[in-house]
Amino acid sequence: MSIAQRIERIRQEIPSSVRLVAVSKQVPVSLIREAYNTGIRDFAENRLQDALLKQEQLTDLKDIAWHFIGHLQTNKAKKTIEHFQWIHSVDNLALLQRLDRLAKDLPVAPQLFLQVKILPDPNKYGWQIPELFSHLTELEACKNVKLRGLMVILPLGLTPEQSLAAFQSTTNLLEQINQQSSLALTELSMGMSNDYGLAVKAGATMIRLGQILFTE
Ligand SMILES: *Cc1c(COP(=O)(O)O)cnc(C)c1O
Repeated sequence: MSIAQRIERIRQEIPSSVRLVAVSKQVPVSLIREAYNTGIRDFAENRLQDALLKQEQLTDLKDIAWHFIGHLQTNKAKKTIEHFQWIHSVDNLALLQRLDRLAKDLPVAPQLFLQVKILPDPNKYGWQIPELFSHLTELEACKNVKLRGLMVILPLGLTPEQSLAAFQSTTNLLEQINQQSSLALTELSMGMSNDYGLAVKAGATMIRLGQILFTE
């Protein structure tokens, strides 16, 4: 199957309101162009240096929206918001506040997700749930960035039932945050190649697909 056929098949499975973000971290620019030609405009990378090299080769594709999905080191924060419109992996308050200051100075208005640990996972970064609720005022104070929603990566080895429940918990968490703050979050970045169907069922607004699009 070609990339075009795979994308077409996935588009038929998911509502048109769900934004399909193509995770291009392991693929060359030739395949990014192929996906672009099928209509994809959202591409995600997880390593800044690799991404910058690819972006340099794709400057003719002016309407790509770049998404950063990897762990973000504070010393790379400035470069990242200069080159990405979306950051899905804002995993702590110090980083968020730094992005907010940088956004003001540059100026840019990056759209951000808070990466949350909806289940315990020693291998993942992310906000603990109580930590989020105890910092709602600080989150509201970040006026230079656009805080858009929550992002989650589930731990490996869950059953489909457990995955669905975890995605639903993330959706509920967003509603609770909105009830207790003025943040008005609208986006849920959740679902990858192996679980996007469940994520969409639970209310995902963006799915991040790599292997299922790009690997035979
Ligand atoms: C690699 C990656 C994806 C895509 O995973 P696939 O299993 O290839 O679809 C999605 N989100 C994040 C944060 C990733 O690092």
